[in-house]
Amino acid sequence: MKVSEIMANLERKYGHEKEYLQAVREVLESIEEVYNQHPEFEKAKIVERIVEPDRIFTFRVSWVDDKGEVQTNLGYRVQFNSAIGPYKGGLRFHKAVTPSMLKFLGFEQTFKNALTTLPMGGGKGGSDFDPVGKSDAEIMRFCQAFMLELWNCIGPDQDVPAGDVGVGGREIGFLYGMYTKLARRYNVGVLTGKGATWGGSILRPEATGYGALYFTQHVLHKAGKDIKGCTVALSGFGNVAWGAALKATELGAKVIAISGPDGVCEIPGGITKEMIDYMLVMRASNRNKVEDMATQFPGAAKFTAGKKAWSVKCDIALPCAFQNELNGDDAKELLANGTWCCCEVSNMGCTPEAIKTFQDAGILFAPGKAVNAGGVATSGLEMTQNAIHLGWSGAEVDEKLHYIMESIHSACVKYGTQPDGHVDYVKGANIAGFMKVAQAMLEQGTI
Ligand code: GLU
Repeated sequence: MKVSEIMANLERKYGHEKEYLQAVREVLESIEEVYNQHPEFEKAKIVERIVEPDRIFTFRVSWVDDKGEVQTNLGYRVQFNSAIGPYKGGLRFHKAVTPSMLKFLGFEQTFKNALTTLPMGGGKGGSDFDPVGKSDAEIMRFCQAFMLELWNCIGPDQDVPAGDVGVGGREIGFLYGMYTKLARRYNVGVLTGKGATWGGSILRPEATGYGALYFTQHVLHKAGKDIKGCTVALSGFGNVAWGAALKATELGAKVIAISGPDGVCEIPGGITKEMIDYMLVMRASNRNKVEDMATQFPGAAKFTAGKKAWSVKCDIALPCAFQNELNGDDAKELLANGTWCCCEVSNMGCTPEAIKTFQDAGILFAPGKAVNAGGVATSGLEMTQNAIHLGWSGAEVDEKLHYIMESIHSACVKYGTQPDGHVDYVKGANIAGFMKVAQAMLEQGTI
């Protein structure tokens, strides 16, 4: 295969799908060399098949807001690849959601899920519904209307959605309630990220952030460093940032900045337990304003409008919010301030320019599909508990999460170690994930 030819073809077909093309290019450039050593992949046209989703459901979602006005949004489910298991991946509710965004996320999910060691295919879904400023009742009515269309496409052995940006435990509850009503099936395994009393796994809410910090520790240890005493800047204040702040603090790091779409909150003394708890309140408020942290903790947290977390001097940068939230200029600013490690916790959080800037400077960099895989991995553990009708203790889940993150790190080292001895985590994660899915597709024939 020639990446340039495949990309030219995709650009002709999907020229306006920028995020999707960006995600595909990154993976193909990473795997090109290894792929070309496997003529059997070439013969089965694995690359041409793996870049296209199996199918995409698109549907209209109409609902009534608190003023009694009818609103209409678009809903989607992208079933990307099922070679190694049922489709698995979150739902994103955000005003900027497009098919391109969900295709990129579904594509990434396919390789991420392969890295987890668990049998899960890749999927993603969501809506251009904007949760900002919505009441709980509006969120509920929207989730119910969304499920009116989705219920027939999903199932514990078929496709298992979960949370993502804009979808947390509250939304999963509303979605699950409507699912049981429509499907008259009460298998809790149809969704993950559920409440602890109705099939949810202990530690699932924390898992993405915890897993990301376990992975960061492996990256640091491999480079002869430790997170204890390091300063950390992170973006976002949703579920992922919350778990990351909790674990980073527990491991002895100092979280000195969090950010939101409105600006950055600097916390020179390091984030406290009360502040971390308050992140949950901020998320539940649907205000989407990080300034609220500074209002709640005046003196300890200082808000600056319009600035990103990447303007704050730190050892370790952890993007935890959205794709392309850290660009080439941000990367340069971080480097100028002495940052020596960036672990992407959000999906495709760094632009290609930012990744190149970090790699050229020789600092530690690891990509989202490895770093954040602990979230979906723990969803996989939730599916297992649901299937065997048992609930594991927090300690059991945490032990398994540790093992999974360690396995992902080892896979990255196996496939990403370069002739000079340094580990290219982007290559490592992409090749390891790809090889597993490609091999499964090959063995299952042309379907
Ligand atoms: N949305 C998360 C991700 O990007 C979790 C998906 C899941 O738990 O299925 O991996």
